[in-house]
Amino acid sequence: MGKTLNVLICDPISACAVGSLESHGYHVSVQDKITAEELLKAVPDYHVMVVRSRTKVKKEVVDAARSLRVVVRGGVGVDNIDVEYCLAKGIKVLNTPAASSSSVAELTVSYIFALARPIVQATESLRAGKWEKSKFHGSEVQGKTLGIIGLGRIGMAVGQRAAALGMVVHGFDTCAVGPAPFMMLVSLEEIYARSDFITVHVPLCEETHHMIDAAVFARLKDGVRIIDCARGGVIDEEALYEAIKSGKVAGAALDVLETEPPSSFKLFQLPQVIGSPHMGAMTAEATERIGGEVVDLLDRFYQESF
Ligand code: NAD
Repeated sequence: MGKTLNVLICDPISACAVGSLESHGYHVSVQDKITAEELLKAVPDYHVMVVRSRTKVKKEVVDAARSLRVVVRGGVGVDNIDVEYCLAKGIKVLNTPAASSSSVAELTVSYIFALARPIVQATESLRAGKWEKSKFHGSEVQGKTLGIIGLGRIGMAVGQRAAALGMVVHGFDTCAVGPAPFMMLVSLEEIYARSDFITVHVPLCEETHHMIDAAVFARLKDGVRIIDCARGGVIDEEALYEAIKSGKVAGAALDVLETEPPSSFKLFQLPQVIGSPHMGAMTAEATERIGGEVVDLLDRFYQESF
């Protein structure tokens, strides 16, 4: 096959990475707005698919992809790819797990601030031509307790940053965690009982699906603020809605939702809820890093395979 590997870029990656792939001898086609229908027609010609989270690589695509050898996911989660089916068909699935960690951690910290000080709501008010100064009292984050559930790459990066802001950082993980002098490792119950802010950084799996549900909300401190920049579904959205309506939860920030895009924007009708359309990894720096790692992964795959 030589370096006559045909690479289909299905989602946006950095122009530098595209240039590098071309200069490394790959035949690259950038179709980063390709629809699911167009993908089914195009994919038989390609040996490599590069995707981020938009493109779904499920059974139908894999069956159509007669020449496919590897799917490279620029990013962490591979929930948009049927990994088991790919592997059964001899197709490798690679990802770039660390490239976006600091971007997601920084978004999480932005949300901690935006939940403490209602800057989103204040901007909305200004945009509506109002000057409602007395409405927007907030609180400091210094001295408040942050509970982090999931102490992997992103959870740890959030902990470091929060400690530097003077927060009391408590963390919980089901697996052993390396030294983290900036945080106290505690039980899940202690996180629930003590935290002023809770942020989740776990993968979505059977164990973590709806891990923050109505029963958990009932055990949290009154006025707690919740952040999910991990995966929709870790927090039960219906239970969150009720917990906000009842006043138990003072605010929530969601970068991810159970269904994306959601069929209902009901949660975002609540003034206490702020959010974003799954943009945790969408920074110039993460895009550059992801692009660089995609090139390295493909070169390594090429060396190992040919
Ligand atoms: P990671 O694998 O480094 O860390 C996940 C941690 O969660 C691990 O330490 C694991 O032991 C722990 N964990 C698993 N189940 C747990 C449980 N039930 N209770 C407590 N801890 C548990 O992953 P990461 O790179 O830090 O990513 C964290 C999450 O962020 C993932 O869901 C990932 O998909 C998501 N993410 C979101 C965006 C975004 O755009 N918003 C971007 C990148 C990653």
